[in-house]
Amino acid sequence: MRIFNPSVVIIDNDSLDFPIAKRFKKLYSDNPSTRYQEIDHEDICFDQFQPFPKTLVEMKSTLVVTRRYGFAVEKVGEGTYDLASDYIFNVVTGCPNFCSYCMQLYTLQEVPYIAIYPDLESAMKMIQGICQTDERRPLIFELGNMADMVELEPATGILSDVIRQWADTFDPEVQLQVVTKSDNVRNLLELSPKGTVRVGITLNLPEFIDSYEKKTAPLEQRLSAIRELLAHGYRIHLIFSPIFYREGVFLKYRELFKHVKKFLSDCRGFDESDVTIETLTFFHKKGGHHEILRHYPGVAEELMQYVECPEKQTYHERYYYPDKIFKELNSLLTECVETYFPKAQAKSIK
Ligand code: SF4
Repeated sequence: MRIFNPSVVIIDNDSLDFPIAKRFKKLYSDNPSTRYQEIDHEDICFDQFQPFPKTLVEMKSTLVVTRRYGFAVEKVGEGTYDLASDYIFNVVTGCPNFCSYCMQLYTLQEVPYIAIYPDLESAMKMIQGICQTDERRPLIFELGNMADMVELEPATGILSDVIRQWADTFDPEVQLQVVTKSDNVRNLLELSPKGTVRVGITLNLPEFIDSYEKKTAPLEQRLSAIRELLAHGYRIHLIFSPIFYREGVFLKYRELFKHVKKFLSDCRGFDESDVTIETLTFFHKKGGHHEILRHYPGVAEELMQYVECPEKQTYHERYYYPDKIFKELNSLLTECVETYFPKAQAKSIK
C-alpha cells in the first residue's frame, strides 16, 4: 500500500486556529521529510512561497491549508450531466494521484497545489441548511470530485473528520458519497458510518489502471478495500470508469464485471440491492490533448485515439468516441449491469 506523504505543507495564517491546521502543524512542523511553512493570506496566490510548485510531482505533494478556495456546494443529479449524486461539494481541491486523463489538468495553472479548506464546521452548517430546504430523500452529497479523499486520508485525517460529523448529524437517508481509486481505508475502518457513508470505488481493466492511473491502487487492492469497507458498515457505489475503446475490450469488460460480481458475492456485508452503480465512457474536454501532452507526453496519443476531433463535436466542446463506438460501448455496459448487477441501482450508464 502506497501512503501519500506531502513534501511541502503551507498554512495560511488566517487558518491557523482551525483544528485541521493545528493537526498539520503537529504532524509536519518537525517532520524532516516535509517542509512546513506559515504564510500571509495575500501571498498564497503569488510566487511568494518558494520554491513554488512547478512540476506535476511538486504540485501533487504540496498541501496548502487556506480559506482562499471557499467552500461551495453544486446541485447536480436529475437534469444535469452528473446523475450519480444530488449535490457535489469539495473541501479539498487537488489530488495526489496521477491519472493522465484527469480533468483537473486544466485547473493546475490556477491552483498548482492541493488546497484544503479548513472550516468544516461552516461547511457542515451549509449542508444542514440544504437538507432542510431540499426534502427529497434519499439525498446524496458527493465529497471531493476534485480530489481522492481516501488517498489523502492517512496524511490529513480530513475524511475521518467529515465522516464523524456526518454520521453524528444525519440519518442514512442523507448520504455522504466519496469517490476513490485508493485502498488506504485503514483509518476509515475505525469509524462508525452508521449507514450514512457510501464509498465509490472506481474500477477498470488492469491494463488501463497500469497505463493511465499512476500511483493508484491496482484493481485487486481496490477490491480488497471494498471487502474491508463492506465488513465495517460502509455502503458501496461501483464506478466503472473511464471505459476505453480498444480492439478486444468488449470481452475484457464483460470479464471484469463478472469478476467483480463474483468477488463481491463472497464479501461479508454485501447486499446487491443496496449497491449503486455508474459507468462512464471516456471523453475529454476541448484542449485536453494539449494538457495531456504537456503533463503525460508518453500516453497522450494513445489516450486520445479513436475520439473525434472537436470540430465534429459541439456538445460542451468535448471529445467523444464516434456515435457507432459509443453506442456499442453503451449497449455493452447496459448488458453487463443488467446481467451481473440486476438488483443494484444503476444511477448512470453512459
Ligand atoms: S483520482 Fe480523479 S481527481 Fe485524482 S488524478 Fe485521478 S482522475 Fe484526477
